[in-house]
Amino acid sequence: MAYNSPCMSDNSQIPNSQASDLPPAKIDIPRIEKAVREILIAVGEDPDREGLLKTPNRVARAYGELMAGLQDDPRRHLKTVFTEEYDEVVLLRDIEFHSLCEHHLLPFTGRAHVAYLPKGKVVGLSKLARLVEGFARRPQVQERLTTQIADAIMEELQPLGCACVIQATHTCMTIRGAKKTGSTMVTSAIRGSFRTDARSRSEILALMHAK
Ligand SMILES: [Zn+2]
Repeated sequence: MAYNSPCMSDNSQIPNSQASDLPPAKIDIPRIEKAVREILIAVGEDPDREGLLKTPNRVARAYGELMAGLQDDPRRHLKTVFTEEYDEVVLLRDIEFHSLCEHHLLPFTGRAHVAYLPKGKVVGLSKLARLVEGFARRPQVQERLTTQIADAIMEELQPLGCACVIQATHTCMTIRGAKKTGSTMVTSAIRGSFRTDARSRSEILALMHAK
């Protein structure tokens, strides 16, 4: 009997409140299929048993989704700007993201908080979420993800200041190795006036972490 687990459904939704609008990456599906078959043999599995027959193809397509950001330039989301005389902080908290640790190709997932202090240029809030997703969907390290988001905002919107704080759980830490279940990693990239002005920095960090 074939066991139909929920993860086998081919059009299963990514458990993410912001569904991806990225097309799957242009990847060499047959090549990944071959590699996954090799991995299965290497760990002592039989890739020809019924339950594993479609696994190489499923893995290949899953990687296509998880790495869809590789062919994307997430900065494109910051090209449509509004000119607005708004000189207060814009903050988008709890942007859920799913990424892939480039050291183990295991998922790390978490939330990003993104803030900037505009100097004339403002973008729609959903664009900030798309920016995070575009940089997340590729082999990543959390530190680089954090700085890429902050730097893109600084360069594209030229705000007075910008801050990006990311909290994430790395499955390469929680399910293997040190097995530190429940541990989260926090990274921040603080730019411009948020960096130079201690008071506005502590204000923005308090806003990001306010309950
Ligand atoms: Zn890792």
